[in-house]
Amino acid sequence: MTDTDTEEKAGEGGGNFILDIIAEDVASGRAKEVVTRFPPEPNGYLHIGHAKSICLNFGAAETFGGRCHLRFDDTNPLKEEVEFIDSIIEDVRWLGFDWGEHLYFASDYFERLYEWAEHLIEAELAYVDDLTADEIREHRGTLTEPGRPSPHRGRGKEESLDLFRRMRGGEFADGEKVLRARIDMASGNINMRDPVLYRILHATHPRTGDAWCIYPTYDFAHGQSDAIEGVTHSLCTLEFEDHRPLYDWLIENLGVPSRPRQYEFARLNLTHTVLSKRRLTELVAGGHVGGWDDPRLPTISGLRRRGVPAAAIRDFAARIGVTKKDAVVEMAALDHCTRELLNRTAPRRMAVLRPLKVVIENYPEGETEELDAVNNPEDEAAGTRKVPFSREIYIEREDFMDDPPKKFFRLAPKREVRLRYAYFITCTDAIKDADGTVTELRCTYDPETRGGNAPDGRKVRGTLHWVSAAHAVAAEVRLYDHLFAEGDASGDGFLDRLNPNSLEVLDDCLLEPALGDAGPGETVQFERQGYFRCDPDSTPEKPVFNRTVSLRDSWAKKQKKG
Ligand code: ATP
Ligand code: MG
Repeated sequence: MTDTDTEEKAGEGGGNFILDIIAEDVASGRAKEVVTRFPPEPNGYLHIGHAKSICLNFGAAETFGGRCHLRFDDTNPLKEEVEFIDSIIEDVRWLGFDWGEHLYFASDYFERLYEWAEHLIEAELAYVDDLTADEIREHRGTLTEPGRPSPHRGRGKEESLDLFRRMRGGEFADGEKVLRARIDMASGNINMRDPVLYRILHATHPRTGDAWCIYPTYDFAHGQSDAIEGVTHSLCTLEFEDHRPLYDWLIENLGVPSRPRQYEFARLNLTHTVLSKRRLTELVAGGHVGGWDDPRLPTISGLRRRGVPAAAIRDFAARIGVTKKDAVVEMAALDHCTRELLNRTAPRRMAVLRPLKVVIENYPEGETEELDAVNNPEDEAAGTRKVPFSREIYIEREDFMDDPPKKFFRLAPKREVRLRYAYFITCTDAIKDADGTVTELRCTYDPETRGGNAPDGRKVRGTLHWVSAAHAVAAEVRLYDHLFAEGDASGDGFLDRLNPNSLEVLDDCLLEPALGDAGPGETVQFERQGYFRCDPDSTPEKPVFNRTVSLRDSWAKKQKKG
């Protein structure tokens, strides 16, 4: 989110350059209605980069009162699975978008696409080639060198048609033949040097089973699927910019039922992570993370499990905007959106992650009292709750120092601090084990300070969270850090750069009893620590919480300074 990005994104409509283009098309009457689509290939789970595209496509349709289709680009049976189809449907829905009845699959169009391929052959605009994939690559030339024609380029339409039908009939092995467009082997655009339209793959397709052994390429399927569905604006990422002439060539030569147009925008890149399905697949398949929904992954399901709300992802997408310039966005910008939203919505609770026992010696033994605690200072309607207090409590180990430096304002020998919603306590003794590790604190409390204020007006500098020992709920807490310690995780050997400390599991955490019946999905703020979401791994005996984000917003600070 640099300044130039902001400039670029603030177009006429106050939206982004894509919305400006659509607005023009609507104003000029070129688009009677606005139809967009999100076209995932079901070869992995969706990640936050896809969320950018989803928000753009569904958002544009909504802005102009049109519709957005969810279309699976399922043209490669070797990599596609039903599990991925299901997860994608779940994730898009969870992000808050609705395609209504417009759920489509490119595989639904296989017959139609096949007919169009025959049509191209008849028009002498396509031919069957016998070169292998490697040979085709060799013949293709480079940016500076024109391509060389295949020896089969001159094949007549009858022979090509016959071969193409036999390809469909299963007479040939994988890779033995392909169908290619006959365009221009000398074109400055390599995509126009007789691109492959169909290849032979004897593979079972998740939807069409064994009905087909030839499959259209992305280039042949995509634009035609757009045209079949009446898509008006086919929005894709910049790497397809060089495919646009081919997209248009096919649309123009096929007599398709509508005229979609392709527009490209920059893909999202994020620091400290990878946004490529190939790399995410490597992380999952190699067991480097716990699965596609590992909370450290930038997948939608990982972010959901971590506790990032869908609304925070939508907000993030809106803030980063849509431009034509490749940029890398700070992960901290996403954290910022998450924090801002959860600050408004998440109930506050007290949880001690690394407990240190405190005995309040002048507090009556066996007594418990209920103190009032505010559920959310940002939301009065959230009300208050009761928190039990008793003679033995736990505080955070790091909130005590035996020999504190100057700026440490928390608990230390002879020092007085406030226990949140409770009393002032003063440390009278620190009990240590043989190694000198503090194992327990002895304190006294001032009964006059109930609720957290002294009637004589004396001040304390520290306020600590705590839980009552007798009432606490034992829990596991998982603290997550960046999957990659370095900001730039791209480049080769990315697995070597995984952060070995990206997950820290704390086994002996103690929560206030209000969290005893927390169910998976519940998101709260642990006071002074961060936002946490109850994980599906929780059992009735022991809840598990994932840290979504800490409270410290380094990103917002940096923005102010910068
Ligand atoms: P990957 O590079 O992660 O494998 P992909 O582009 O192959 O992604 P698709 O399933 O084909 O994945 O993507 C569906 C749509 O999402 C496409 O229109 C694609 O351009 C868009 N998309 C994918 N990655 C990003 C990203 N990082 N930022 C924005 N849009 C993206
Ligand atoms: Mg793709």
